[in-house]
Amino acid sequence: ATPMAVIAGTGRAAELGILVRDADALQRASSVDTLVFDKTGTLTKGIAEVISIETWQSVSEKQALSWAAALEQGSAHPLAQAILRRAEGMELPQVEHFRQAGGLGVSGSVAGRSLLLGNEDFLRQADIATQPVADRLRAQAERGATPVLLAADGKVIALFSLRDPLRDESQPALARLHQQGYQLIMLTGDNPITASAIAREAGIDRVIAGVRPEGKAAAIRQLQQQGHQVAMIGDGINDAPALAQAELGMAIGSGSDIAVESAGITLMRPHPGSVVDALALSRATLRNMK
Ligand code: ADP
Ligand code: MG
Repeated sequence: ATPMAVIAGTGRAAELGILVRDADALQRASSVDTLVFDKTGTLTKGIAEVISIETWQSVSEKQALSWAAALEQGSAHPLAQAILRRAEGMELPQVEHFRQAGGLGVSGSVAGRSLLLGNEDFLRQADIATQPVADRLRAQAERGATPVLLAADGKVIALFSLRDPLRDESQPALARLHQQGYQLIMLTGDNPITASAIAREAGIDRVIAGVRPEGKAAAIRQLQQQGHQVAMIGDGINDAPALAQAELGMAIGSGSDIAVESAGITLMRPHPGSVVDALALSRATLRNMK
């Protein structure tokens, strides 16, 4: 039987836009000590903007943008959307042999050139030297921008820097959670330097970055093996296995259906303040039961 206090807690939760899948989820929430946040779309707005384009090999900015945008037409990633918005109104060339590599980037050929667009790992895996642009890449990452490299026929020709700003509510919500004694961790597939810059801005002290989609659940498991009770907060398709692995999964309701299905709690208001409410509610509910 479900204790009365849990049912009451669930009713209050609904008023706050917090949907609790089962009474058990509230109980599990009350014993959590570590909160792991997905970055993109959870702590940040999930809407990136191209803030600069740098080019090499005498390629024009316009040329680089049209090739990058042509490739990104095949991707639904927030970074792809940002590059396409920047190229709005441009006529885009035909892409052949399009491929998407999850957590790495996209590739294809345009006008007989073999193009690769994505992060440093993606280019390295194709044996493309990123060392000539390493200083620029680091400089952009240090200011919290996500670097996206474009290579043509084995050489880096452009660096796109994209900025996805923090949600206004992230910093104050994280400060409260920190005060309450939770360990706060950011988990992301993004560049480690970019992630650290954004984590500093948000007030998170620990970052697990450069994680491939399939590695997110493994990162949660590792924290559990170290003795932590973990809540994972995320919105993406990539986050679903990690949401399911954690003692408690909290999905952002505006995120993917798969994330919502994998979570014990769904936050209908897409901001980290709801995490504060959900945890407070779970503690209050458990107190009422004692
Ligand atoms: P997260 O959801 O944690 O931000 P992803 O696993 O979706 O991370 O992506 C990780 C990284 O892979 C991105 O930061 C980017 O560098 C690269 N990437 C993935 N998809 C694309 C794409 N369509 N275009 C450019 N880069 C991409
Ligand atoms: Mg996300």
